[in-house]
Formats: sequence, structure tokens, C-alpha cells
Amino acid sequence: MDILVHRPDVTDGGRVDGQIAVDVVAFDWSGCPVRLEEGSELTFDLYRDGDTWILRVHGSVEAETCCHRCLATACIALSVDFQALVLPAGERAPGEQGEDILERSQDGKTVDVAPRVREDLILALPTKVLCSSDCRGLCARCGTDLNRETCDCPTEEVDPRLAELQKLKAELTGSEKGAGADGGR
Ligand SMILES: [Zn+2]
Ligand SMILES: [Zn+2]
Repeated sequence: MDILVHRPDVTDGGRVDGQIAVDVVAFDWSGCPVRLEEGSELTFDLYRDGDTWILRVHGSVEAETCCHRCLATACIALSVDFQALVLPAGERAPGEQGEDILERSQDGKTVDVAPRVREDLILALPTKVLCSSDCRGLCARCGTDLNRETCDCPTEEVDPRLAELQKLKAELTGSEKGAGADGGR
């Protein structure tokens, strides 16, 4: 995702904008692939400040991933918006460490924003994706997709691990009472 920064036609203080195709196609997100819509584009703005360019890249990209409850395909929109300084090759001003700095390519003509865009896309991922807000998910016992069919599994929501713990707790409190009866020494 190279943006041309060798623009002698743009005078100091001038600006230029345009579209850039997103060539990050897919990435893995805790085992669930995220596929970006083909042909997605972002907008960029470049402001010239002497030999430095102030670059802003923004826009929204549609992506396909899977529902966290039923694993069906779910669509999400990921927004990207960042600003960075593009300094001349080999220059890193000491006072500008707090700012995002992108390096130019070897020939100094372009800047590759793909790693930064990828980072922003990952940050934009929601913590939970659902195919629809009323997704019923999969049956925890037999795996049936409850959005499509029903199963005969019992519906009461007793977690078997919790039931085990309750039994253990009952036994412990029972034996404590017994042990406490004989007192100290
Ligand atoms: Zn779902
Ligand atoms: Zn079931």
C-alpha cells in the first residue's frame, strides 16, 4: 500500500488527497479468519510541511468473519483513522518521538502504509461479533445450530462443573461441623 510522497508539484503548505486500495486481504483473529471485502479503499490526505508530509489515512472497510455464538458468517465494518509524519529518508527528529512516524521507501518516493493500516484494522475489531443480535448460538450439549433447528437436549442451564462444586461444598461444610466438635487440645 504505497502512497506517493515525491510530489514536487505540491508547494510548501499545500495538500493533496486520494484513494488507496487496501491490499491487506485477510488476517487471523484468535482462530477466526477476517476477510476484507475485495476492492476496499481508504482515503488519504497529505499536507506538505517543508520536507515533511503529514499523512492522514481514514475510511471504513467491510469484512467477513464468523459469529462468536454460532460460527456463521457475520459482516462487520472496520474503521481506520490515523495520522503520521512522513519524514525524509534517514531522518528521525528527536522531539517527535511521541508522534507516529512512517518511513519512506528506499528511493524516498513512496511510503508503505500497509503495516499501519493492518494495525488499525486489528484495533478496530469488536470484542464480540454476532451474526444478529438475537443469535441463539449452538447447543452446548449436541452442537445443533439453534437458529435453524431445535434439539431434544434438556433446557435447564445447570453447568455440570458448578453442580460438582456444589456437591463438594456440601460435603466439606458437613465434615467441618463434624471435625469442629472435638475442639482444641
Ligand atoms: Zn450467530
Ligand atoms: Zn442439543
